[in-house]
Amino acid sequence: MSITPLMPVYPRCAFRPVKGDHCHLIGEDGQRYLDFAAGIAVNILGHSHKGLIGAIQRQAETLMHVSNLYGSPQGESLASRIVDLTFADTVFFTNSGAEAVECAIKTARAYHSHVGNDHKYELITFKNAFHGRTMATISASNQDKMHKGFLPLLAGFKYVEFDDLEAAKAAIGPNTAGFLVEPVQGEGGIRPASDEFMKGLRALADEHDLMLVLDEVQCGYARTGKFFAYEHYGIEPDILASAKGIGGGFPLGACLATEKAARGMVIGTHGSTYGGNPLAMAAGEAVLDVVGNEEFLAQVRTMGDKLRARLEQFIGNYPELFEEVRGKGLMLGVKMKVEPRGFVAHLRDNHQLLTVSGGDSTFRLVPPLVIDDGHVEEFMERLSAGAASFAVAEVQ
Ligand SMILES: *Cc1c(COP(=O)(O)O)cnc(C)c1O
Repeated sequence: MSITPLMPVYPRCAFRPVKGDHCHLIGEDGQRYLDFAAGIAVNILGHSHKGLIGAIQRQAETLMHVSNLYGSPQGESLASRIVDLTFADTVFFTNSGAEAVECAIKTARAYHSHVGNDHKYELITFKNAFHGRTMATISASNQDKMHKGFLPLLAGFKYVEFDDLEAAKAAIGPNTAGFLVEPVQGEGGIRPASDEFMKGLRALADEHDLMLVLDEVQCGYARTGKFFAYEHYGIEPDILASAKGIGGGFPLGACLATEKAARGMVIGTHGSTYGGNPLAMAAGEAVLDVVGNEEFLAQVRTMGDKLRARLEQFIGNYPELFEEVRGKGLMLGVKMKVEPRGFVAHLRDNHQLLTVSGGDSTFRLVPPLVIDDGHVEEFMERLSAGAASFAVAEVQ
């Protein structure tokens, strides 16, 4: 047999982390790595956070899982807190980002179906978006590399250019249910939507009775220095998918909606065996205890500004490697003039610095949101050394 016991769908590298220590990871060989990838924007409290560990330990000893057929004091508590902090009136908890987007897609369709408009099932989505790996969520993305081998796709998605309001408007037809968009594209290469685009989508949705569905799985939950990224744009969505940071490393996602948008999500329409179980809720509460306040968000903005300023100054030293810095808060991307994958591997293997490559020739910095000035210094030292040795290697 040549297939590996772990299904070989990931190009796994030689680094094998076995322990986390705040903003560092320690490999099987004992080496320490600075973690500015954070499990791809997940470990927002860093690794080994005492509050999160304690909450999970206590809840594991008390009650881990029960059926969603029973009353859920744990779910009600976390949902109420999220409702208080956001546009939403109601929350469905999931175990992952793709499931949260899946619930968001179903909620948008059910909104129209509920009043007899079953033909309004189509979501307008945007090129280079990433929404997850289930059949519905790969169908929502235009990326051929995710489709190959899995056809036929689910019907009901129309792809248009990201950040192009005229294209979005032109795509509206009799079957349109709404828009599904990442306010800041993550996998697509840290591309923030413009103000006009987001405000324009909101206005089009209002005008045509469409659902504005945001995928904030990566850009939400304090990542950009606001609790959710839509707050940067002075608009509110009808439906929003959250995950990644929301559990701080515990598998958790959520689909948020207004009362109006959720009118079709009545008893029997949706479900999840594990979704919102007491253990996940305890993790979610512990994360929210830390990040759900203005003081924490202001600190994320401050650190984001510092990191960005340092990066902008730095990339000028290597005009042959780097083009621009973009993003919001601690969701930053550096567009490169060379293939970023090799650079990310170089930083990891030779300078013990973890970053993530993304689309549009970028490498992403999505560190724990609890980094301090010392981590920024360490990051800049490792990046400087990495760029210098990489530039030499490139020339040879
Ligand atoms: C990661 C991601 C998803 C999918 O989340 P999973 O937990 O991997 O299912 C969906 N949308 C966006 C924007 C993401 O970044």
